[in-house]
Amino acid sequence: MSDIIQLLPDHVANQIAAGEVVQRPASVVKELLENSIDAGASSIKLILKDAGKTLIQVIDNGKGMSITDARLSFERHATSKIRSAEDLFQLHTKGFRGEALASIAAIAHVEMKTKLENEELGTHIKIEGSKVTYQEAIATPTGTSLSVKNLFYNIPARRNFLKSDTVETRHIIDEFQRVSLAHPEIAFSLHHNNNEVYRLNENNLRKRVVEIFGSKMNEKLVPIEEATEMMSITGFVAKPTYAKKKRGEQFFFVNDRFVKSPYLNHAVVSAFDGLLEQGSHPSYFLYLKVPTKSIDINIHPTKTEVKFDDEKALYAILRATIKHSLGQYSIAPVLDFNRDSTLDTPYDFSKKPSTASVPKITVDPTFNPFKKESQKSSGYISKQDVGSWESLYVTTEEKQEHETLFEGEKEAQANKTLQIQRKYLLSSIKSGVVLIHQSLAHQRVLYEDFLETITVKEVNSQQLLFPITISFSSAEIETIYSLKSDLESVGFLFDEFTKDAVTIKGTPPSISESKITIVLEELLENVNLDVPDTDFNPFDQMAKSFAKTLSIKTGTSLTQKEQENLVNNLFSCKEPSISPNGRAIFKTLTLKEVDHLFGS
Ligand code: ADP
Ligand code: MG
Repeated sequence: MSDIIQLLPDHVANQIAAGEVVQRPASVVKELLENSIDAGASSIKLILKDAGKTLIQVIDNGKGMSITDARLSFERHATSKIRSAEDLFQLHTKGFRGEALASIAAIAHVEMKTKLENEELGTHIKIEGSKVTYQEAIATPTGTSLSVKNLFYNIPARRNFLKSDTVETRHIIDEFQRVSLAHPEIAFSLHHNNNEVYRLNENNLRKRVVEIFGSKMNEKLVPIEEATEMMSITGFVAKPTYAKKKRGEQFFFVNDRFVKSPYLNHAVVSAFDGLLEQGSHPSYFLYLKVPTKSIDINIHPTKTEVKFDDEKALYAILRATIKHSLGQYSIAPVLDFNRDSTLDTPYDFSKKPSTASVPKITVDPTFNPFKKESQKSSGYISKQDVGSWESLYVTTEEKQEHETLFEGEKEAQANKTLQIQRKYLLSSIKSGVVLIHQSLAHQRVLYEDFLETITVKEVNSQQLLFPITISFSSAEIETIYSLKSDLESVGFLFDEFTKDAVTIKGTPPSISESKITIVLEELLENVNLDVPDTDFNPFDQMAKSFAKTLSIKTGTSLTQKEQENLVNNLFSCKEPSISPNGRAIFKTLTLKEVDHLFGS
């Protein structure tokens, strides 16, 4: 039998290796930014076109490369950072594998200009699919400029696999934030399609966090500081009242490298014990310094995971330090008017369970299960009316007042529904009874309303008397900006975008002025949450997000009429049985099944 084994040509091997290093434009951004940091740059500029699909360029003022190094840097396993395996245990640089540039050059059009400080001329190189197509001397500033154009141009399958610009931009901004938070001492800027998204000056950590996340972050931060023999911790946690519904702003850096560590995250969360509402996540920016010998960062190819020698001790120190700081700053609950307060657990709940009131069953005293069916239809309000749900929504307190005032006067109505625990509606139907989840039902109604509005050609918008300006972080502004035309086609009218604020002069009719901020904030959270794998359909996403934000929540009492409207509107939906996020909205119990319960 003849020999069949062959060595893969370099460019094929590089393409295969590229698959591991480069998943998407954000991976290129990460590698290039890290190279610039390793080169000792004090200022780094990132320029993008079309979410990095057309262009990713990084310009630094680092030490630059000689002609030979410039050429060698694109070879696989070419690195200036380690010389022997032992060096791996003493790493102070971000890169060390010598794979990134070789991989990137295998799957894109790459152009590099680089110059050493004491040289007069630098080197200009162009590479396509691992082949050098151009090399000349050039006059260029000290440092390196690397452009990566048309990523995956020679691997159409990978190129087609890329997500929408919104999603890919989000990934890039995540990387940019991680790297720039790890190095507040370096100035960074980010330009996307000729917009300046970030300009971060050389700064201290607190200012860097505020520069990135917006000025409202400043008041939220609680400083963390501790030094032991095993490690030092510095950074900030956000006060518990600013905890987020989605995990967003959670950053761990170990020796200036962003890492993900569910274990350390647990330590932080447990330090907040009793201070967080259920389902909310604390924001934090924590910097751990440990001896390089005591960690292994090499266990994951993209290097965001880390293994510590003595995890248990780290856990304990971290938890105690944060607990102590939170105590010192005697974090008291602060009112947040954007939240649905009816859902909150009081902060002192764990200490004084006796103060918590037991949920009551709301029973309508006029409920008469024997009333005839035909009488009830009088209370029907069109679906459109429920869309502007505020008429339907009364806060719990108002409602209770209302109930005691008008208890006696209530007219005998045809009562077809009964509200249970301010959460479910029970309604009798021909074949038995149906139990409806009120919040999910309302989500479905609103969702279909929004989709209908979106698909109708003529857009309705209500002009605000006074335009309102809402401040956001620049990343959030970038996301809203990327959704601008989609938001406009559902009825938003924008006046002005600045780096950290947006001015709105009109909204869809179903979104009242008081809800604009929360609607946009939750949309941003939902968009970010969806980034990793789901396909992004902005309209569907918006409709889902709006519906969820604006729906009546569990804990809201509904009048008889409101209950009936909701039920009627639900059953005039196209898909009344499933919530926009795929949960069952109601369950039916047939008479037979009821009979069965009683053994007949
Ligand atoms: P690694 O960073 O793992 O060493 P890379 O492929 O990312 O591997 O880079 C290869 C080499 O090219 C680096 O070791 C470094 O010597 C050089 N290099 C890359 N980018 C820069 C830059 N921006 N400035 C100076 N040298 C650089
Ligand atoms: Mg590198």
